[in-house]
Formats: sequence, structure tokens, C-alpha cells
Amino acid sequence: MNKWMAIAGAGLVLGAAGCAGPSRNTVYQVSTIDALLAGTYDGDLPLRDLRKQGDFGIGTYDDLDGEMVLLDGVFYQIKADGKVYSPDLRGETPFAAVCVFRPEKFFAVPPGADMVGVEKWLDREAPNQNLFCAIRIEGTFKTMRTRSVPPQRRPYPPLKEVAATQPVFDLENVAGTVVGFRCPPFVAGVNVPGYHLHFLSQDGARGGHVLGFELVTGTAQVDVLDRFVMQLPGTEDFATVDLAKDRQQDLKGVEKEKSKK
Ligand SMILES: [Zn+2]
Repeated sequence: MNKWMAIAGAGLVLGAAGCAGPSRNTVYQVSTIDALLAGTYDGDLPLRDLRKQGDFGIGTYDDLDGEMVLLDGVFYQIKADGKVYSPDLRGETPFAAVCVFRPEKFFAVPPGADMVGVEKWLDREAPNQNLFCAIRIEGTFKTMRTRSVPPQRRPYPPLKEVAATQPVFDLENVAGTVVGFRCPPFVAGVNVPGYHLHFLSQDGARGGHVLGFELVTGTAQVDVLDRFVMQLPGTEDFATVDLAKDRQQDLKGVEKEKSKK
């Protein structure tokens, strides 16, 4: 019953759902995380087309050339040198997830929390683990640890091998925005179950895939998303990659930090 009421409340948007434009509560994803883990780095969807599906999101770029942040409709490319570039909108992405960010929840995050603490706190504030959440945290961070990935050449190595040599960046006393998603457990193989967060500093100079942080103070906005749309690549690589294998262990090694210094 509650579900129906929620849908009825979004009726205006649902009316437009059959059109090509973005829907109100939709995660739009390009390719699958397992294809990326297997080394399918050949871009398929141009950024300008991805932009039509959302103004907020994360992913990577053609040839795995850095981490993607899409924030307020602008793409940022955090390359392996730790600097932030403005990508050509004709460039393509091999993997990304975006949405039209229209948060319905606003919170002050408990001051002083670290990443694990913020995630646990978000789990209490947005308890439905079976829907997607887009998450935006504006804050100042005592520490922010990120990584990026260098561009790859054929034959593409698996992401696990690339991540083993990834550059890690330790930022201190930095203001900025955390951008990302919490995905339900049933997306295993397709996206990252749980939290996947990227960072962009307020001055637009630094960022990357978030490995950990300590917050000073901040606010969180959450957009709960109940529709999931995938665009699968038409590339030769995607046609031949083995997606029968369980790559959850590889994913843990790639997305999280292996060991603290
Ligand atoms: Zn990432």
C-alpha cells in the first residue's frame, strides 16, 4: 500500500516514463561491474548521451582513464596523476551509473564520523536496503583517502591487476562533495552491492574513488531510487567477455582498501 502511494505521488513523472528522457527515480547504468572487473574498458556510450540520463553519478572513462564524477550536470575526470580534468563529451564510458538527483532526505551528518560510521548512520536514516540510494555528502574532511586508475592498453589486464598498482591520494583538511550510490545486495555481478563513493574537492582540483575519510562536519542528501535501467555495450569485448564467473572476491579487492598503512 505504501509502495502504491509512493508511486502515485510520482505520477507526473511516471507519465513521462515511456519517453526517451530521464525518469524521476531511475538509476541508469552502462555495462556491468563484472565486465569492468574482467577488463572490458572499451568505451561504448558517449558522455553527452549519458548526460541525457542524469546529472549525478560515478563511473570511469574510455580505456579506464580515471574516475568519473558527474555532479550538477558536469563531468569531472580524476586521472591517475590525482588531478581533475574536464572530459570531452564525445568521449565514451565503459561503465557508469547516473540518475537525475532530486533528494527527498536531508540530514546533518554526525560530526567527526569516519566512512564506516557515516555508512552505518546512513543505513539507519535510509533503512530500505532493497532500493537504490543516490548519496551526496557536502562536508569538510579531516582526511580523505582516494585512488584513481591509469589508462590501459590492449590486451586489457583485469581490474584486479590494475588496482594492485593504483595511485592513492591522502588529502587533509579538504572541503568537497562525496558522490555515489548504495546498491541493493541483489545487484551482485551487475553493480557494487553496498556503498560506492567518489569525491571531488570544492576547489575542483582533487578527487577520486573514496577509500576512507574522517568527516569534520557535513550534510547528506539522499535520493531513493526504485527503477533500474541498463544499457549494455555493443562492443566486441562485451560480446566475448566471460560473465558466468563469480567475481565478488575480485570486487572486494578492487573497491575497498586492502590494508591500512
Ligand atoms: Zn569507484
